[in-house]
Amino acid sequence: DKTEALLDLQNLVKRYGGLTATDRLNLTINNGEIHAIIGPNGAGKTTLIHQISGSIAPNEGTIVFGGRDITSLSMHERVAQGLARSYQITNIFKSYSVLDNLALAVQARTGSSMRFWKQAIAERAIFDEAHVIGKRVGLAKRIKTIAGSLAHGEQRQLEVGLALATRPKMLLLDEPMAGMGPEESARLIPLIESLRSEIAVLLIEHDMDAVFQMADRISVLVAGRIIAAGTPDEIRNNIEVKKAYLGDE
Ligand code: ATP
Repeated sequence: DKTEALLDLQNLVKRYGGLTATDRLNLTINNGEIHAIIGPNGAGKTTLIHQISGSIAPNEGTIVFGGRDITSLSMHERVAQGLARSYQITNIFKSYSVLDNLALAVQARTGSSMRFWKQAIAERAIFDEAHVIGKRVGLAKRIKTIAGSLAHGEQRQLEVGLALATRPKMLLLDEPMAGMGPEESARLIPLIESLRSEIAVLLIEHDMDAVFQMADRISVLVAGRIIAAGTPDEIRNNIEVKKAYLGDE
């Protein structure tokens, strides 16, 4: 259904010298869906996410987001359009509390629109929202904790919170489970799932169990091309995918 499409990649090409890392790629992500991209090392997953977030430019093709051609917009302009990439929006201030980090991120979004509010009212609104986001990402008990002393998994939760502070329509997550133990993953997975239908998530992840658990749809990228796309069940049973990728896991 075309009306549901939030992100639409059309004939995207990215070359590094003689190597074509993204090869006439077409992909549609719908509003509110959790969409995972899987593929072997070097398939072009990171290159693709960079082009969507705007940190690198494609050689050819068009990126449409929310019905608007964003191909030539800067990263910051894309964030303002509702496209957030967790760790690139704001880096965590390690010597500030979780709450202060979230408040700074909320203020970065609302700053100019609150300029004429009374200082105390604006501050209250910002910290109220920071509290809500902290709770949402499972950090209510750690809200006063200095961010630098959070466990690795909790820092990832905070990064998601910082991205949520931009009020995104879509969140790009590049290997969110990397370096996490099973307990930390077990906390992050329901957090990502809780975004479903409200915020679209485009996820690159090597943890296949997590991918097949969370994703509404999975696209399989091999040598810069999507060779298959479908529900987790469809991908699991796809012979081409087994041959090209899952077989050698
Ligand atoms: P991985 O899972 O190992 O991170 P990936 O699927 O994310 O891999 P990319 O990192 O996007 O793959 O790389 C795709 C191809 O492009 C690889 O062959 C890689 O060597 C090449 N490549 C990536 N970045 C550059 C660059 N800056 N200059 C030259 N070649 C690059």
